[in-house]
Amino acid sequence: MSNVLLIEDDAAIRTSLTRGLRDRGHAVSSAPTALDGLRLAVEERPDLVVLDLGLPDMDGLDLLRMLRAVSRVPVIVATARDGDAEMVRLLDAGADDYVVKPFSATQLDARIRAVLRRVAGENRADSSVTVGGLRIDPRTREATLDGTPLDLSPREFDLLHYLAARPGEVVTKRELLTHVWQIPYGGADKTVDVHLSWLRRKLGETSQEPRYLQTVRGVGVRLAAPA
Ligand code: CA
Repeated sequence: MSNVLLIEDDAAIRTSLTRGLRDRGHAVSSAPTALDGLRLAVEERPDLVVLDLGLPDMDGLDLLRMLRAVSRVPVIVATARDGDAEMVRLLDAGADDYVVKPFSATQLDARIRAVLRRVAGENRADSSVTVGGLRIDPRTREATLDGTPLDLSPREFDLLHYLAARPGEVVTKRELLTHVWQIPYGGADKTVDVHLSWLRRKLGETSQEPRYLQTVRGVGVRLAAPA
């Protein structure tokens, strides 16, 4: 099952696609405006966004660019126009795929599954990650900072790899508990805080003077190359 965010202003289309996708096993949330959609995309961290280009409050392509600035979430664009030029325009703006209106829930579901399969392949856990002077190789489980090996516990390594694979993205403690600790429900934020502080120390930085690990108060943490 995947969490799909549907950004579509037409209430009838929104209702029928939501039902159609739920029937096909997806969890669906929806937003009728670009700004609501952007907010939900950040707050709910869906697995995939279906974005209608014709929204009342903002051009869909502008929204796509804003979304791309804060998230790598796969996006399927729903457009009324067809043709090579339109396709190139959408893919250049960061869309992963597109569907031409009108389309059925069956067709959209097939596109969603194809995009998610492709993204899963690209995100395969064995690819090494470089962020600034940090290099993390999950195959050898070695991490280096400016060429110097870091002495990390297995959990610290997993935490660093998870964050580094999402450079610049704010990751919540809930997400870390789910994916790094494999605790889908419950678990204590404190656990994450403690490991983050250990990791921070091994990276040679402090929360007062962060370099790679930036705390976003009340939300989570972000790993990014120092400015
Ligand atoms: Ca529309």
